[in-house]
Amino acid sequence: MQMPKKISVLDPLVAQRIAAGEVIERPASVVRELLDNAIDANATSIEVELIQGGIERITVIDNGFGIAKEQLPLCCKSHATSKVSTLEDLQKLATMGFRGEALYAIAASAKITIASTQEGELGHTIVVDNGTEEPVFIGGPAQGTKVDVEHLFSQIPARRLFLKRPSTEFTMCRNVFIEKAIAFPNISFRLYDEKNLRLDLPATDSKTRLLNALVNDKNIIASEMVEFSSSGKDFSLYAIASTSGVYRSDRSHIKIFINKRGVDEYALVQAVTYGYGEILPGGAFPYCYLFVDIDPDLVDFNIHPAKKEVKLRNKAEIHHQVVTMIRQQLQKKIPQVEIINQIPLAGFDQSKPTTSHQKSTSEEKRHFQVVSEKPTDSSWFDKAKEVLAHHKTIESSPLERDKEEFRYIGQIFNLFLIVEKEDSIYLIDQHAAHERLVYDQIKEDRTIQRLMIPLKIEVERSVDDYLLAHGPWYAEYGIELKKIDDLEWELTTLPASWRSIESEIVEFISSHATGDIAELQKRLYATVACHAAIRSGDTVDRTTAEELIKKVFQLEHPVCPHGRIFVIEITKEHL
Ligand code: ADP
Ligand code: MG
Repeated sequence: MQMPKKISVLDPLVAQRIAAGEVIERPASVVRELLDNAIDANATSIEVELIQGGIERITVIDNGFGIAKEQLPLCCKSHATSKVSTLEDLQKLATMGFRGEALYAIAASAKITIASTQEGELGHTIVVDNGTEEPVFIGGPAQGTKVDVEHLFSQIPARRLFLKRPSTEFTMCRNVFIEKAIAFPNISFRLYDEKNLRLDLPATDSKTRLLNALVNDKNIIASEMVEFSSSGKDFSLYAIASTSGVYRSDRSHIKIFINKRGVDEYALVQAVTYGYGEILPGGAFPYCYLFVDIDPDLVDFNIHPAKKEVKLRNKAEIHHQVVTMIRQQLQKKIPQVEIINQIPLAGFDQSKPTTSHQKSTSEEKRHFQVVSEKPTDSSWFDKAKEVLAHHKTIESSPLERDKEEFRYIGQIFNLFLIVEKEDSIYLIDQHAAHERLVYDQIKEDRTIQRLMIPLKIEVERSVDDYLLAHGPWYAEYGIELKKIDDLEWELTTLPASWRSIESEIVEFISSHATGDIAELQKRLYATVACHAAIRSGDTVDRTTAEELIKKVFQLEHPVCPHGRIFVIEITKEHL
């Protein structure tokens, strides 16, 4: 048996390297720490230069308040910091740094040269080469601090082995640089790669900074980026985010900043996604840079050496407020891109029936039933006409009133209707608009029809369970389902107006096994409306178009059942 080794206190250099590993993993971690220091020094201008993706050399130059000569040797000592001295300070943290470990860790893993000049003083320089400190000598930048980090991990082969290609390391450094630049728009930032200026970000406002920092992202459309803000007890929220016009297939641009620090806070990323809800199609995610400012008392960054994690005491409140802010402000913000809103319209609220529906009579229902009994292949044209005729019968007076108020110009791309109204032109997505009108209508129409021959539906286990639980809900909507065997159901009744799309309904029933009731209802209606609507790519005649346009102008919120805006207004002035 092997004898246990004796316990001995680690050689300081070994201990230093172990600690260093937690803070400094790769060039990007050095960039993060040096940028934090420059920011904490109240710099108004910061330059970063990388050679070989930072593996060979990282230089950060700032014009901050600098370091005094006698302080230089202290910088690279363990737990040497000017930012925190008491436990109380730790609780009221206002700086990016506080651990006093970064320079110490860098000095243990590379050759670091710190040259610094305070206002009105002579500049001084110190070199620490992999833990070995050299004497301070005279010489420094005009004002501020210049830190050079060379040959990272050259004496720690195990670490160096884990570094990626210089181009990959560069990208990671660049991402850190961008994150800091986005959090501090009032500081000017420059990034050089092998002496070439890659990003030049002059001091500006938050939104302009974000757009400048993400210039290389060709997906972003500046006019589709909006700002939200809100606040709660002890915190405030601010976000720069995309409207429904721009989105991505991943969450990589949902970024959370807490007290200006980029953090991995999944709960808040989820809050953002949740706030967007169905405004975006399934599998799509917004751009959203969310800045949370919280009373430092309620945050603890001191759980991870790189400060990427955070403990929030009021996480639930913040989460809730983020969802509310986005939900409420997203729709309000859309008009900024000149989208219809000012038009005086009949009150509409998704939870309440519209005025037109309140007026619906059995006669109209019968009328609509005729539509639904047409064979499935009946053209959209007939359907549209009848649906619109239906609307007309209910609200003939407001229609009369609006008659002269707009001029239908024509259709483009078989997709959009162009309308002139007062001092604006409007582009209306015909499919989405019609879908919305149909949606409004079916929400209220409850005429039920018994199927002559019940439709058999075979389902999966999860759906079977779901139907057992939600059968009564379906029945309330006129969809009667009978379980006839294990995993086998029968559809016996349908709302009369859904008769023509019974196969879509069956498809819907057999593929939905999740979601709460409100969600289920919304999806069901959206499915129905989508199939009954005029398709994009269909030619529309003048009468149908004009009827459709009238109805659209009467809506308060022109969003389709999936939540997307379908009317764009372009003002004369704008043109
Ligand atoms: P921390 O930032 O947690 O205090 P660091 O190891 O990063 O620890 O830095 C140690 C100290 O060195 C800081 O507290 C600060 O006093 C000084 N320092 C480092 N970088 C700069 C800089 N760019 N300008 C002015 N002072 C600096
Ligand atoms: Mg620091």
